[in-house]
Parts: sequence; C-alpha cells; structure tokens
Amino acid sequence: MASVKESLWDPVAGFGVTFRTMFRKVFTEQYPFDKKPTAPRFHGRHQLNRWPDGLEKCIGCELCAWACPADAIYVEGADNEEGGRMSPGERYGRVYQINYLRCILCGLCIEACPTRALTMTNEYELADRSRESLIYEKKDLLAPLLPGMEEPPHAMQLGTTDKDYYRGMVGAAVPTEGGGDK
Ligand code: SF4
Ligand code: SF4
Repeated sequence: MASVKESLWDPVAGFGVTFRTMFRKVFTEQYPFDKKPTAPRFHGRHQLNRWPDGLEKCIGCELCAWACPADAIYVEGADNEEGGRMSPGERYGRVYQINYLRCILCGLCIEACPTRALTMTNEYELADRSRESLIYEKKDLLAPLLPGMEEPPHAMQLGTTDKDYYRGMVGAAVPTEGGGDK
C-alpha cells in the first residue's frame, strides 16, 4: 500500500517545477520578428571580397575547395587578360560555387585562402525551398561594389603590380586613360 508521502506529497512536488517555472523570466525569442545580433565572429554565409578598386581578391587557386571537409566548394580558375582583368595576378575565379546543403560552416576554407578573398559574414538565414537555390554562385557571394570601386574587368592601377595589391598598398580606383597594368 502506498505511503502518505507517495499518495499526497509526491504528486504535489511534481508540480513544484511547473509553479517555479511559471514565475521565471520568459526566454522565448520572437524570431523572425525580433532578430538578435550574432556574436561578431559568428560563421555565417561566405563572401568573396574585392580590393579597394573593385578587382576581385579570388585568384582561382582552389585551396578553399581542397580544405573543405564537406566537399562543398567548386572553383574553376581562368587566366586574366591584360588590360581587362578580374583580379590582380595571373588568374581569377571564373566559376565559384558553395553548396549550402553540404556546408557545415566550419571556416576551414577561409583559413586556407591565401588572399583573404573568402571570409564569412554573420548572415545565418540560409534556409530555402529548393536544392538549386542553396547552391550559391559567384554572383551571390561577391561583395557589393562600394564607393571608389569599379566593376571589373579593368586594369590594375597605374604603376602597380599584383604584389602591391597583396601588400595592401592599393587604394580606391582612380580614373586613368588607358588604365594601368604596366
Ligand atoms: S565553411 Fe567548412 S564546410 Fe563550409 S565551405 Fe568552408 S570548409 Fe567547407
Ligand atoms: S577563395 Fe581564396 S582559396 Fe578559394 S580559390 Fe579564391 S583565392 Fe583561392
């Protein structure tokens, strides 16, 4: 036969947790109506960056693709053309895709990138309704053109080499006649 404790106290004690919780501060977040900022170094959607004159930082080397443990990146490099280049140096990323169905947002790819072309933003809303829409193309990943940037293809700045870009010695685009690339 059940003791007095088991028949009377235990059912009431079980509600103790319920009553305590009823008077606590509510932690429910009202997402998506109220979006909380992430930590500054949160790993979200990737971005392909540009130099201050608008040329692309990606040189199509594929190191990011080789570093990826989920095989989520596909890169095809191509040669730059003198006078109408996409990036400083020999090559640029002609095709660049990240498959967000595979990506685990680990950040190994951005560690592998030698030019800091690839970084990660704080954007985390990556759900969608189709598989195709979660394969991001280069146009989806490229950083926007900021003031002072010029849409590639165009020449490197007059009198500069690719090494000047990599050393951070090149500023915003300055209009030149016939361009640089000497
Ligand atoms: S964040 Fe990780 S999983 Fe995603 S593309 Fe980069 S290396 Fe691959
Ligand atoms: S993003 Fe960086 S690592 Fe990847 S292909 Fe471009 S330059 Fe190479």
